[in-house]
Amino acid sequence: MNKINTTVLAIGAHPDDVEFLCAGTLALLKNKGWNIHIATMTPGDCGSATLSREEISCIRKKEATLSASMLDSGYDCMESEDLFISYDKKTLTRVTRLIRKVKPTIVITMSPSDYMVDHEMTSKIVQTSCFAAGVVNVETDNVKAYDKIPYLYYMDPIEGKDKFGHKIEAGIIVDISDVITIKEKMLAAHKSQREWLLQHHGMDEYIIAMKTLSADRGEEIKKNFAEGFRQHLGHAFPQDDILKSELGEAVHLM
Ligand SMILES: [Zn+2]
Repeated sequence: MNKINTTVLAIGAHPDDVEFLCAGTLALLKNKGWNIHIATMTPGDCGSATLSREEISCIRKKEATLSASMLDSGYDCMESEDLFISYDKKTLTRVTRLIRKVKPTIVITMSPSDYMVDHEMTSKIVQTSCFAAGVVNVETDNVKAYDKIPYLYYMDPIEGKDKFGHKIEAGIIVDISDVITIKEKMLAAHKSQREWLLQHHGMDEYIIAMKTLSADRGEEIKKNFAEGFRQHLGHAFPQDDILKSELGEAVHLM
């Protein structure tokens, strides 16, 4: 059997989504020897009430790079714009190109059902790009087609619920209690967002909100902190659960 390429690519809509929703699982994979790569669709260009789009984008890409470096991860931004992430050829080509370059065995992305369209659109774009990466006639600036379709997992939506307020049930819950500190440090690297949320939403609880969501999932498996996922099992995608085979007892199948 060929040894698998142990690379996982996590693609969030905005800087900090990956930290909120799957950094613990990334840290566990890192501990098992996996290479981590993090990307965001936008640079978070609307994440400030006082700075210009250019200024805040520059700050947030630096913060995302710092956070990613805590898992020795590279960081890429797809340069879409906050609130305008579009399912179009340009965007799909960029993400397909990223997948072909990184060659991940696992891809993790946003929930297909979430509180904002940027998140849902990212989910659709990544789904198609995982498939397109192997389609030879999809051209991506001389980066060759990938020879497989990666395992695809969707993270929990923010607050664990869809836009109707219904709870999204996870098929897979990963115990991240041992790595909650690194998850917290990665999220805290997004200093500007933490400050912006305080001004814009009056929410002084950036870290607490992350811990609350993680604790809620943890409660379902009687652990302190956890992250929920659903696996994409549509036609042509891998059907076995590689998170379970790689992370063993930390992974609870619901
Ligand atoms: Zn987001």
